[in-house]
Amino acid sequence: MVRQRTIAKPVKVTGVGLHSGAKVEAAFLPAKEGTGIVYTRTDLSPKVTMKCTADNVRDTQLCTTLVNPDGVRISTVEHLTAALCALGIDNLLIEVNAPELPVMDGSAQPFLYLFSKAGIKELDAPKEFLRVARKVRVEDKEKWAELTPDDQGLYMDLTIDFNHPAMDRALQHFAYRFSGKSFSEQVSRARTFCFMRDVEYMHAHHLALGGSLENAVVLDDYRVVNPEGLRYPDEFVKHKMLDATGDLYMSGHTILGCFKAFKTGHALNNMLLRALLSDPRNYELTTFERESEGAVEYISPARALRA
Ligand SMILES: [Zn+2]
Repeated sequence: MVRQRTIAKPVKVTGVGLHSGAKVEAAFLPAKEGTGIVYTRTDLSPKVTMKCTADNVRDTQLCTTLVNPDGVRISTVEHLTAALCALGIDNLLIEVNAPELPVMDGSAQPFLYLFSKAGIKELDAPKEFLRVARKVRVEDKEKWAELTPDDQGLYMDLTIDFNHPAMDRALQHFAYRFSGKSFSEQVSRARTFCFMRDVEYMHAHHLALGGSLENAVVLDDYRVVNPEGLRYPDEFVKHKMLDATGDLYMSGHTILGCFKAFKTGHALNNMLLRALLSDPRNYELTTFERESEGAVEYISPARALRA
């Protein structure tokens, strides 16, 4: 059967918090089948634990934030979540000593590397996928996102629409069949991007104090400011794809379907996931004997270890 996964051994990272600019530590621990993705804020007394679900995604202005019913927050979870989706990790304990995860380099690559080094462990329970059974669509003015059935796994098609000299019109659309390998090779290194005018505004309002050229692509009115340039010619749309991957994995289940979106972002992605889950006729939870029956193809645990 296609099995649930966790990591083989505990790993830790230290990095900068995007919002606070302070040093943040996060520890990742193996978890047993059926646990889900569970966060613990170790800086609070008593410690507060919350599970990652579509329903506790709240403030989505700068990043994806989990908020429990008492208002306890954990921010900047989406790039980690995208990496978990790509590695097929269903069960993980995350201990963080701040209200946010470290932003790392603004992409999912450091998390992929970290978990590949820890190793992937398969558990003795079938992995449950969320299969789209009928079309679900959400809109916000000209922006839209939709999920339709697809019997071969997860297909993703995303278009952005920026009018900027450094953002080539021909490079604002990206579509591919999602797998551990295709995500890792084509999307995982795409960094968050922002505009210089937004950086000035955010810093004036004490937001994104940890944001820098180390963890974001910054554009002025004409060009990319980062001296190293872009990691992919179409890094901008690929980062939106990375974000959507994380946002759609907030339920803890990989979606099987065709995702199509225009100018989408965290808020609309979450609205789409909630719309899908709002009516049991929209989806079914399904398991597989073999990946070849139509499940998403993940990197094998042995290969993940070598990555
Ligand atoms: Zn992002």
